[in-house]
Amino acid sequence: MNSFVLYGGLALVLLLAGVYVAISLRGGSRLQRRLFTLFFLLSFLPVVVVLLLNWQMSQRNLGFLDSPGLRSSLESSLNLARRTLDREREVAGETGQRVAQRIADGERPLPAPPDGGSYRCWVGGEAHLRGTGASELLEAMAPPDPNALGTPIRLELTGEDYLVATAAAHGPEGEVLLHLATPLAADLAADLRAVTQGSSRYRQLRLFYGELLRGDTLITLTGLGVVLLATSILLSRYFARRIAGPLSKLTQGTALVAAGDLDHRVRVRAVDELGDLVDAFNRMTGELKRSKDELVRAERVAAWQGIARRLAHEIKNPLTPIDLAMHRIRRKVDDGTVHECVDTVLEETRNLKRLADEFSFFARLPAPKKERTELRELVSSVAELYTERTHVEVVWEGWPEEMWVHVDPGQMRQVFGNLVKNAAEAMRGRGRVTLTLGEREGGIVVRVADGGPGLTARPEQLFEPYFTTKESGTGLGLAVARKIVEDHGGSLHAYAPAEGGAVFEVGLPAAGKE
Ligand code: ADP
Repeated sequence: MNSFVLYGGLALVLLLAGVYVAISLRGGSRLQRRLFTLFFLLSFLPVVVVLLLNWQMSQRNLGFLDSPGLRSSLESSLNLARRTLDREREVAGETGQRVAQRIADGERPLPAPPDGGSYRCWVGGEAHLRGTGASELLEAMAPPDPNALGTPIRLELTGEDYLVATAAAHGPEGEVLLHLATPLAADLAADLRAVTQGSSRYRQLRLFYGELLRGDTLITLTGLGVVLLATSILLSRYFARRIAGPLSKLTQGTALVAAGDLDHRVRVRAVDELGDLVDAFNRMTGELKRSKDELVRAERVAAWQGIARRLAHEIKNPLTPIDLAMHRIRRKVDDGTVHECVDTVLEETRNLKRLADEFSFFARLPAPKKERTELRELVSSVAELYTERTHVEVVWEGWPEEMWVHVDPGQMRQVFGNLVKNAAEAMRGRGRVTLTLGEREGGIVVRVADGGPGLTARPEQLFEPYFTTKESGTGLGLAVARKIVEDHGGSLHAYAPAEGGAVFEVGLPAAGKE
């Protein structure tokens, strides 16, 4: 490949990666930029160091392989080995020739082969084998061509080295052709092998490093470096964003929450500790909102209690003299019309007194005096007040024989009394009230459900003091009931179920848990 094109391509890759990161980092936070720089240095510096070390090492290895001392000593040992082998060949050739001549001269029995060796000869077309070393090899060979005898060849046979010489001789017996195998001394064979292998390995290594340090490898190494650089740029950017993203969202979130936006939630995908941090932050904001809402409610109730106290005082004060005056008029004046009017006034003063009593009760709601109480008995005794006087029927669902709780019985009677009274009023004194007992985390829940017209306002609005839709209502019943339940560590909510009517849900902590 044209190296110019390659370098150009690599530079382009690098440039593109750099531009991409620069653009995406411009919009990022300072933390993101810092993390990117840190990750990039951490990941790329070792790569540069390794590449440089590799390069240097290759240079040094080639320098060592190219040193004249090493090369000449290797060449000398190779020459030495070659000369030694040539001498051995010469000796083998001469021995073969000598043996062939003796046979041709008529020596019988045939002369013995050299130690550990063997020969095969052809006399007048007949083949004879003497000796054992490499005899199978000789048996497989055709008679040599007397016109092309050549130098002895070196053969390796089952781990042993032999020199196989060919010879031809003329004598009274006619032409004698011969193959002679003589073993090469084991240590000599091993040395020869070591020298040839060593020098061929040297040649390969030189070739390899020479190749490595030529332009191609340099291009490959540079290419590798650039690819690694681009990869480390992109990975560093990825990790920097992954960490800095959630953190900057959290920072923004903290600022918003501090400015009072308690509905803000950090929506960002994060894993591990960062994910936990985001979850914890969102949970904390939720808790903060809940406590703030509670605080606001408590403040509102306290304010209404103050108003209730003054109202009760202002109403009650003139009621007693009015009452006394009316009784006196009744006694002094004997007139039917006057008596009727006086009775109406007395009836209205009684109503006003009841109202004032309710106000002052709401104003002075005492802390609950809790004791072990059987809840079913308590609820049933207040429900009876209505079932006896009206056509309202009470149905019990999910109640055990006994349900012991730790509450102020007087206050609880007021809570359930008010809920059953409201249910009976909503159904205009005719219908069914279902009291269901259920469990919930850390306590129990009692649902008071009726078959009335359902809720006419937002459920939370019903609990505000003085909210009423009834002509003679005070709007304090539910406010007082909720205050009592909350003072017990529980909760009171209303909702309109799909099947119609209204449900009021009293949650109470399990005995001993409040
Ligand atoms: P009051 O009974 O004096 O009006 P409460 O605080 O007990 O005061 O109730 C406030 C209002 O909540 C009622 O006027 C009524 O509009 C509504 N409400 C209470 N209970 C029910 C119910 N079971 N079904 C429908 N509306 C209800």
